[in-house]
Amino acid sequence: MRAVDIILKKRGGGELSREEISFFIDGYTRSDIPDYQASALAMAVFFRGMTPAETVALTESMMRTGSVLEFPELPGPKVDKHSTGGVGDKTSLVLAPLAAACGVYVPMISGRGLGHTGGTLDKLESIPGFNVRLSLPEFRAVLQKAKLGLIGQTPEIAPADRKLYALRDVTGTVESLPLIAASIMSKKMAEGIDALILDVKTGDGAFMQAFEDSRALAQAMVDIGRGMGKKVAALITDMDQPLGRAAGNSLEVVESLETLKQRGPKDLESLSLELAARMVQLGGLASTLEAARGQVRDALASGAGLRKLQEIIELQGGDPRVCDDYSLLPRARETVDLKAEVDGRVTRIGCRAAGQAAMLLGAGRETVDSRIDPAVGIVFHKKVGDLVIPGEPLLTLHVNDRSRLDEALALLRGTIHLGPESPPAMPLVRAVLD
Ligand code: URA
Repeated sequence: MRAVDIILKKRGGGELSREEISFFIDGYTRSDIPDYQASALAMAVFFRGMTPAETVALTESMMRTGSVLEFPELPGPKVDKHSTGGVGDKTSLVLAPLAAACGVYVPMISGRGLGHTGGTLDKLESIPGFNVRLSLPEFRAVLQKAKLGLIGQTPEIAPADRKLYALRDVTGTVESLPLIAASIMSKKMAEGIDALILDVKTGDGAFMQAFEDSRALAQAMVDIGRGMGKKVAALITDMDQPLGRAAGNSLEVVESLETLKQRGPKDLESLSLELAARMVQLGGLASTLEAARGQVRDALASGAGLRKLQEIIELQGGDPRVCDDYSLLPRARETVDLKAEVDGRVTRIGCRAAGQAAMLLGAGRETVDSRIDPAVGIVFHKKVGDLVIPGEPLLTLHVNDRSRLDEALALLRGTIHLGPESPPAMPLVRAVLD
């Protein structure tokens, strides 16, 4: 087999066989196939697409370039959640402890934030001492003890994706549906889970902004998971405004803790409860979705979810006292309010620009190598539909470094749109694929 023939076949719109795909992926991972041929194939896939069978074969080939975890010692269902990312999306910190408190094993392997989106690992690392780099034996031990473990991507998981993703990033081939779906699922399917709930974001702050694109991505990922024998469901959820009120790492930890104390924003609470309930149901621990929702609500109301988060913080080397004393979390030196000049109802919040402004303050990464500041970010006081009166703060910036403050403020001034009336209410969960 020759790499060039595989490129020519895809360029001409042909369907690649499983053998051709795995020959290419294995060769590329070993560096027998050079970057220029891999970028040519990625571009051919970008324009020609892939059939569902090709996408499954690509996912499996990428997954098999690394370790595929197994947890035979864990006596219950193992379920994870993946979100395609957004602004203020901190559901993992709320739903993972809730699902674990209901009996689901949650071996969660998360990513870091990039660009306008945040990442679970960065939020966890804002907790003093919290270690997201557990060895595999340590990960197994915390899972066995607490039913929950929260770590970062290890080099052993899907190394082909790590290489290919970096190449796509610089060759204009990121936004290809089969490549995105295979990239995400090759990592998730290597986690040793029985089931997965996908939270595919849609709207201005999402990776896929148009609803139909989000739906197609969700469907492709559900099909891959099922093709690989796992139970997978997807929710397509709103990212036309930040989720909750906080964007920025330690600010989001506080908001997650408040949500586990039932004092959090309603949108964050309801989405976290719904995703956790789907995990309980997919794990077979409830006979109906309604029963699963009841179990998760009980775990929230009894404080079991909060205690679970506290337990895992301690087990992973963090300071569990942060759950009661937020002053132990990093805090910015100053706050700056952006005030309303006129009155009206909030009709729209430019979610992507809001995420970019948080990034400018240091809460996110411009490139994979940027350093982030865990203390900084933005708290949004108004959601779409809220009434605003002149002089009221629309949002508060938490600032350490003033060098890009003016740029952030300029971006934010244009993000909150006011009008005479509330727009029609949009459901948080736009569609369900199950
Ligand atoms: N996230 C991933 O892990 N891979 C992609 O291709 C896009 C987003």
